[in-house]
Amino acid sequence: MDVLKKVPVREQDAKERATNFKEVCLGYNEEEAKEEASRCINCKNAQCIIGCPVAINIPGFVEQVKNGNIAEAFQIISLSSALPAVCGRVCPQESQCEGKCIRGIKGEAISIGKLERFVADWARENGVKPQAPAEKNGKKVAVIGSGPAGLTCAGDLAKLGYDVTIFEALHKAGGVLVYGIPEFRLPKEDVVQKEIENVKALGVKLETDVVIGKSTTIEELMEEEGFDAVFIGSGAGLPKFMGIPGENANGVFSANEYLTRSNLMKAFDENSATPIMRGQKVAVVGGGNVAMDAARTALRLGAEVHIVYRRSEEELPARVEEVHHAKQEGIIFDLLTNPVEILADEKGWVSGIKCIRMELGEPDASGRRRPVEVAGSEFVIDVDTVIMSLGTSPNPLISSTTRGLDTDKRKCIVAAEDTGATSKDGVYAGGDAVTGAATVILAMGAGKAGAKGIHEYLSK
Ligand SMILES: Cc1cc2nc3c(=O)[nH]c(=O)nc-3n(C[C@H](O)[C@H](O)[C@H](O)COP(=O)(O)OP(=O)(O)OC[C@H]3O[C@@H](n4cnc5c(N)ncnc54)[C@H](O)[C@@H]3O)c2cc1C
Ligand code: SF4
Repeated sequence: MDVLKKVPVREQDAKERATNFKEVCLGYNEEEAKEEASRCINCKNAQCIIGCPVAINIPGFVEQVKNGNIAEAFQIISLSSALPAVCGRVCPQESQCEGKCIRGIKGEAISIGKLERFVADWARENGVKPQAPAEKNGKKVAVIGSGPAGLTCAGDLAKLGYDVTIFEALHKAGGVLVYGIPEFRLPKEDVVQKEIENVKALGVKLETDVVIGKSTTIEELMEEEGFDAVFIGSGAGLPKFMGIPGENANGVFSANEYLTRSNLMKAFDENSATPIMRGQKVAVVGGGNVAMDAARTALRLGAEVHIVYRRSEEELPARVEEVHHAKQEGIIFDLLTNPVEILADEKGWVSGIKCIRMELGEPDASGRRRPVEVAGSEFVIDVDTVIMSLGTSPNPLISSTTRGLDTDKRKCIVAAEDTGATSKDGVYAGGDAVTGAATVILAMGAGKAGAKGIHEYLSK
């Protein structure tokens, strides 16, 4: 064994997986996990913990894996995280815990994410649950939204004895974990639903099909239904568009709609009651994780897929692993390319996307080099479907129906980072609703901060 290198993880073959929705990464088995764990040198001043937004005791759980005490490893992780099987799969570990791992200085960092995933999957398969909550303290908290922020906040409060109810607008709980991230990266029934069951096992109630701001309001929850505090974890689900000519043509989707139809409504299944248009040639505009997910979904539905991105490969905001997987599967990258118009046929269906070549100029406010148009370089890519993946912002429904709740100019709710406290007494918020589109683990960190803030508020 080369201690400088990660134990490789098995994956589904690229050619085979490009035609199915089964999970790409197959994870470690116990033997591989123990071998990988034995590379950890159990640092006294473990930097990996500092890199983790929910401060999991990483050396502690890795040590237990090394010794074969997987149930104990799971209990250590569960003290800090309610969704380890999810995080082990989708967290950007390379820029968090693994990015800080001391082993990474001379060789490859410990595969902390893959070990977390192994422990969580083992616990699920062996019926090991997180430890039961304390006795109830008689106080009621409402949590709006069942994404990672809401689930984490609810789980932490339940462990402290609160009577917690999550209100979710959709018919299924999980937020982006169920409607956004595709099955081939994050299995829904086996992984996401099982972790939600674990949160419910702590005593958390879940009411789906309740849209706060429409079915009821935050004020009604607090003044009429007896909730002592509210946590808003309603995410950032409102898609952005470019505002170019032709964006209203048939066959133009937002990535959110496209992925929701595929994941939540099972449109990839031909027998689904709500099938999706299967494009032959698809352009996905954007370069983030969401664009990669939309592109890889369209590929699996049988299309030739182009990623159209205005900067170069270096600036692609998606995780390196996602770009690597997308390339392996045959996605075509049209970089330094920006759409200027969507072309439609006489019946109003997309027939092509007119683009212009770009070059990189001086750095802009984000620190990345600004893409500049190359005059006269327009060209057309023949496509029948265009998926816009340009980011999302919070839906203003809750802020516009709640008096005294401050938002910023991006329509994000203003909340304190360490407690989630908003401008309205007893109302806390966190996750994408506060930061705009970010990551699962940051949303979980914000859910934890919100639970702490609410506990302090209700303990006064
Ligand atoms: C396609 C895609 C891929 C991604 N891939 C990754 C990845 O690989 N790694 C990563 O770390 N992050 C990834 N992200 C980002 C990550 O999923 C989000 O940052 C995270 O889910 C935010 O969590 P949240 O709890 O704040 O919001 P969400 O997950 O959006 O959950 C919010 C929930 O609130 C509900 N809601 C909204 N309004 C109301 C209302 N008025 N009443 C009741 N309920 C309401 C919504 O229906 C939703 O269920 C991805 C995002 C997308 C879209
Ligand atoms: S920094 Fe790396 S080697 Fe050190 S304790 Fe954390 S995982 Fe182990």
